[in-house]
Amino acid sequence: MRRRAPAAWLAAVLLAGTAQAATLIHAGRLIDGVSAAPRTRQTVVVEAGKITAIEPGFRAPGAGDRVIDLSQGTLLPGLFDMHVHLTGEYSKTSEIDEYKLNEADVAIDSVVYAQRTLLAGFTTVRDLGDEFRASIALRNAINAHKVPGPRIIAAGKAIASTGGHADPTNGWARKFPADPGPEEGVINNPDDARKAVRQRYKDGSDTIKITATGGVLSIAKNGANPQMTEEEIRAVVTTARDYGFKVAAHAHGAEGIKRAVRGGVDSIEHGTFMDDEGMKLMKEHGTYYVPTISAGRWVYEQAQDPDFFPPIVRPKALEVGPQIQRTFSRAYKSGVKIMFGTDTGVSKHGDNAREFRYMVEGGMPAMEAIRAATSVPAKFLEIDDRTGSIAVGKLGELVGVPGDPLTDISVMERVVFVMKDDTIYKAP
Ligand SMILES: [Zn+2]
Repeated sequence: MRRRAPAAWLAAVLLAGTAQAATLIHAGRLIDGVSAAPRTRQTVVVEAGKITAIEPGFRAPGAGDRVIDLSQGTLLPGLFDMHVHLTGEYSKTSEIDEYKLNEADVAIDSVVYAQRTLLAGFTTVRDLGDEFRASIALRNAINAHKVPGPRIIAAGKAIASTGGHADPTNGWARKFPADPGPEEGVINNPDDARKAVRQRYKDGSDTIKITATGGVLSIAKNGANPQMTEEEIRAVVTTARDYGFKVAAHAHGAEGIKRAVRGGVDSIEHGTFMDDEGMKLMKEHGTYYVPTISAGRWVYEQAQDPDFFPPIVRPKALEVGPQIQRTFSRAYKSGVKIMFGTDTGVSKHGDNAREFRYMVEGGMPAMEAIRAATSVPAKFLEIDDRTGSIAVGKLGELVGVPGDPLTDISVMERVVFVMKDDTIYKAP
């Protein structure tokens, strides 16, 4: 979306000869995503999709204006979830579904999940790994206002090595053709790495995701082993830079985390067994950490049922699950830069905001957790000129919750107001 200077915008309205009706949001409390403290009793005015005024007190509506009464609640910028998978949701039947679901099934599901995500208050998400390039088609349909959903920064298919966490053929019987290459996101040398990144550029991806170590839910024994060489990671990153892509690395094990950081990735996802040296390296390189505590908690809870996961997955879920929140606490205390991300699609779409509770439990003050889900990721994604904070001139991407999240963070899970693209999707 292009920005227009206020004068040009005003001229356009005058030329059209119509007085545009405004939305006036009466906010009992306003958290702008940047400031250290909230403001109280403010009116935020949105016209033609943009914030045009922020005033103390509750402004009375003019003719045709709409008032959103959040006088007992809190208004925040639209939230960011920096790690989701909108093309699926893990269940007891996920392993067998791999053989049953077609592209159309996945595409239709993804539309439902995108809407749930938006209604939970998340107006921007990074989709870090899909199937059938469906996240890219979904992104395009949302941008064209054909279906409701968050702004999507799409990775397309994640990049792994053979047998690695995002090899889509793990666990298949040998009678199935199962030796995918760079197009399907499986690389085994730097040349493959370059081809995989360029294929994603051709596919229309916005960002690159690699799986630098084993993972919990793949049909493979180890959830933490390094699965790419530093040379392969570096080839991904240097090629990605040519196309303006940032690189996110799934990494649980300490060695794989360090290889990814030294290889130049922009964010570490999960980071479960991060050691002190890994944290020091991340601070030196300015690498962001996206903890996804929600995924850890969820797999641990499901693993209490001995039949929920395939037998090869369950021990990994029991081990990795509880560790992530402990690592989050250590990383936060040590000063690693943190962004909000959940790995939703493991846990249920629409439950994304539970992560706030887990972050606060892990020692991060509520205001910092909110910034990690608003202005911090907006800056990382280089869209902070448009969104990620509440200020005059920014897009009207706004969320309301009842009560005060600074005294009770769980209110983030009860979003009552969602506005995006000049449309109110949920109103109190
Ligand atoms: Zn993930």
